[in-house]
Amino acid sequence: MKVWSNGKQSLYLLNFSPAEREGFTEGATIVLDATVGKYGFGLLRSDEIYVFRNMFDSPRYLSEPAAEFISIQSEGNFPSQFTYQFAHEMGHLMAQSWRRHRKVGSHSWLEEAICGAYSIYCLREALNRPGSWFQQHLPSYFVDYIEPNYRPVTIDVTWYNSFAIELAQSDHLTPTIKLLSRLIADTFPRGSFVQDNKALLDVPLNPDVSRYLQDWESACSSTNNVPKLFRTRLGL
Ligand SMILES: [Zn+2]
Repeated sequence: MKVWSNGKQSLYLLNFSPAEREGFTEGATIVLDATVGKYGFGLLRSDEIYVFRNMFDSPRYLSEPAAEFISIQSEGNFPSQFTYQFAHEMGHLMAQSWRRHRKVGSHSWLEEAICGAYSIYCLREALNRPGSWFQQHLPSYFVDYIEPNYRPVTIDVTWYNSFAIELAQSDHLTPTIKLLSRLIADTFPRGSFVQDNKALLDVPLNPDVSRYLQDWESACSSTNNVPKLFRTRLGL
């Protein structure tokens, strides 16, 4: 079922119940408004984006198909959980992460951190949308899940040095990476990091993380950007 379109691209919710589609459509629309509505799509493999449930796997932006598929691991009609997962995977889609997935020099932890920031940013947008289902129901999800898992901590060179090896080996969102997501979401509360995420499309793979961040910074259109934040905070 098509639930959103901007005239060119369309979003389809596949194997969800009618009640779920109703609840999830509002969340998906808020995510799309806050991301592609403000910053546009980059290159896509297809103009149709398909979202489906797969309980046998973590939420995922599929690398293999020659089209845009996102799988969600939601066991019922939980719009907050759907929106949280969908926002993260939209980050991967907007940066076309299949181009970097499991390749040497891609530094997955950086992309996971920024995708985690999509979740926080989009849920905050949902929270502030007047009259939305989320205004009434989302605060408890924030208190129970977002605040404890994405808590604000001091992130500096010392912090990075204690986690550098762990981060370099991470290929999915981890508790440590979630702390970086919070840093991004709080530093760019209006969502300009979405633009920086899209700039990843132009960054050549490089095993040297400092060089990778420098190239990413050069590809960003704004002078205040995520790679610059990482380079200054983490001493890279
Ligand atoms: Zn991810």
